[in-house]
Amino acid sequence: MSTGTSEAFSYRSGELHAEAVALAAIAEAVGTPCYVYARAALEVGYRAFAEAFADDDVGLCYALKANGNLAVIRTLARLGAGADVVSEGELRRALAAGIPPDRIVFSGVGKTRAEMAAALDAGIHQLNVESLPELEALSEVASGRGQTAAIAIRVNPDVDARTHAKISTGRKENKFGIDIDHAPAAFARAAALPGLRPVGVALHIGSQLTQLAPFRAAFERVVPLVEALRAAGIAIDRLDLGGGLGIRYRDETVPPIADYAAMVRDAVGGLGCKVTLEPGRVLVGNAGLLLARVIYRKEGAHRRFLILDAAMNDLIRPSLYEAHHGIIPVRESAPGTRTAPIDVVGPVCESGDTFALQRLLPPLDAGDLVAIQSAGAYGAVMASSYNGRPLVPEVLVDGDRFAVVRPRPTIEEMLAQDRLPPWLA
Ligand SMILES: *Cc1c(COP(=O)(O)O)cnc(C)c1O
Repeated sequence: MSTGTSEAFSYRSGELHAEAVALAAIAEAVGTPCYVYARAALEVGYRAFAEAFADDDVGLCYALKANGNLAVIRTLARLGAGADVVSEGELRRALAAGIPPDRIVFSGVGKTRAEMAAALDAGIHQLNVESLPELEALSEVASGRGQTAAIAIRVNPDVDARTHAKISTGRKENKFGIDIDHAPAAFARAAALPGLRPVGVALHIGSQLTQLAPFRAAFERVVPLVEALRAAGIAIDRLDLGGGLGIRYRDETVPPIADYAAMVRDAVGGLGCKVTLEPGRVLVGNAGLLLARVIYRKEGAHRRFLILDAAMNDLIRPSLYEAHHGIIPVRESAPGTRTAPIDVVGPVCESGDTFALQRLLPPLDAGDLVAIQSAGAYGAVMASSYNGRPLVPEVLVDGDRFAVVRPRPTIEEMLAQDRLPPWLA
């Protein structure tokens, strides 16, 4: 899946392009920093996933939280994607992008009653319930409206996803799901409550997994659970196996989608369930980059710094997860150019506002453009306007054309969002 970057973003005549568009032309037209997504990479990634599961009864529900831009969602929707949403905001985005309600699942550990009502109104495929109190609440909301909610219960299989602690979700100390040992009681409760139709088991053990073993361990724990539930008279015919497949940021070896598909088939194929998968990062991560300009090169006594116009508020992954992102110059350096270590930082007033420490880069100076790679997932969606910085805009490229798919707000627009109370006016 990492091929997305190399194919959609490449040097042509010494200039980095997104498909057939020079990134320098985008910087000129839109300004920097900005996110740039390549339709071709989204399509290649989605098709690879869909083809690996073409022979199976599998629904692909793109996890919107990885990249919620309407144009990105619609691009995937046109290819046949469903959606995994975690809030009413995401639900409305999925619907606005044209994803049919019967291909939408609603995940998340803290759905409000208002969100449940919105999901029932929309007639979505399934709600994934994560606790007993949520079960009771959903029963009240659904039965109060004379409706029946098709639900899966998310179980916590207590496996180590072997990924970063902040994106690991399947250990018993995590807040997610119901302990798998307590799942039979939860299903029995669900079956007894009005307004609920328990039809599935769901799980999601974490993100950026680069090995298949933790997935397999988790999926295999679900098999005896489904058998026990069926024996107890609860007709489970759906499995939601979550997302989590990783991408290549640096030198990770990521399992081929075909191997992942074979493992899914092998682990749970015998149950005859309709399977939902919720890939996020793997579909969009390498389909986007963050385009930035060097403001200054600063030569300290002990370190050298490249100060960009992009910052942690635009892309927080390096600060939050110590994540590595490739950084490359937009103008290709001549073969044999010497590289030297330099810290790549943003202008925000935090030492944590660092994209890379001692990164080996060719000589770069004020005004030069750089691309921060693999930024299509958990980039723009996690951006903020910290330090009074306008939210970073987004651009979608398609062949030789591009469009701003989220404009940069003006400072006036940002100011206009605040209100002075009467006593300060
Ligand atoms: C975040 C999340 C996903 C997507 O995870 P990726 O690692 O981006 O594939 C899928 N399902 C649930 C429930 C999630 O919370």
